Amino acid sequence: MNIFIPKSVQETLEILNKYCSECIILGGGTLTVPMISELNPRAVILLDKIPLSYIKQIESKKIEIGSTTKISSIMGHDNLGALNIAAKSISGWAIRNMATVGGNILAGFPWGDLATLLTVLDAELLVESVNGERVLDLGKLYGDEEKRPKLQSNELIKSVSFLSPDSNTYFIKVERFKGTKRGILTIATRLIIDKEGYITAARIAFGSAFYHPLRDKIVEEFLKGKMLSADIIEKALEKISVSRLFLKDSLASEQYRSKLAKIYLRRILESYMIQISRRVT
Ligand SMILES: Cc1cc2nc3c(=O)[nH]c(=O)nc-3n(C[C@H](O)[C@H](O)[C@H](O)COP(=O)(O)OP(=O)(O)OC[C@H]3O[C@@H](n4cnc5c(N)ncnc54)[C@H](O)[C@@H]3O)c2cc1C
Repeated sequence: MNIFIPKSVQETLEILNKYCSECIILGGGTLTVPMISELNPRAVILLDKIPLSYIKQIESKKIEIGSTTKISSIMGHDNLGALNIAAKSISGWAIRNMATVGGNILAGFPWGDLATLLTVLDAELLVESVNGERVLDLGKLYGDEEKRPKLQSNELIKSVSFLSPDSNTYFIKVERFKGTKRGILTIATRLIIDKEGYITAARIAFGSAFYHPLRDKIVEEFLKGKMLSADIIEKALEKISVSRLFLKDSLASEQYRSKLAKIYLRRILESYMIQISRRVT
């Protein structure tokens, strides 16, 4: 097995292109290292030395994070709102100091807490191979509902850009036992509500429950153009459609996850109602 520690993106892409599917990329290595003996790849690429660890504001309401940025670096940043909450919710310090943003996006069930939030912030990935760059809507990467997300074998995630989380953005992680950190279900939402109280855009995503985070476009579509009320919330909860895909594991059954989805989405939607009533009074 060849181990590479490239110093630039270009060098990384050339190695990736040479070994393609016989090669493994290590972001922080927290998920991949334990699998290396079993997978027995021809090449392993460590991303530690490539200059993709950064967090920057790219427009007044947009942020870009380099793919090798550690989850602990997000925690140290002031203006990331709900993203700070999501980062803090991930495991313990040892994992957060190693795990990267790129790795969390491709982590798959039951992980991907940052990724759940990023999907409601209309995140886009900048992905590159020797053939050039492409911008990939994170929702498209998660498009195949019943499979783990995958890039082409010679592609590298360079960065993710997304709308700055504001007070309209919520992230909740439900754990079985306090402090276990691994979620049974995560919910992220972003509602844009106009001055009259009508929802002009809705983003609602669930995570830790299927192969990757997933937006519930049926609920989103239902909420668009509506004004929140007890009745509308009730109807929205009945429309949760992604629960048909919930997986079971040692922490929870599909049915339990479905119940939690309703309970916590109700709480979040009621919080928006409180926000609106405060605006009016
Ligand atoms: C004990 C434990 C507890 C955890 N708890 C949580 C939790 O509470 N919440 C949570 O969300 N996650 C949790 N995780 C998962 C953790 O967040 C992931 O391990 C992490 O996100 C993966 O990051 P990594 O950088 O180590 O990825 P790696 O293990 O290095 O890689 C994961 C995958 O991404 C690919 N990859 C990585 N970077 C790139 C890139 N730039 N371009 C292309 N492909 C890339 C790798 O090839 C691999 O397929 C936990 C993990 C452990 C071990």
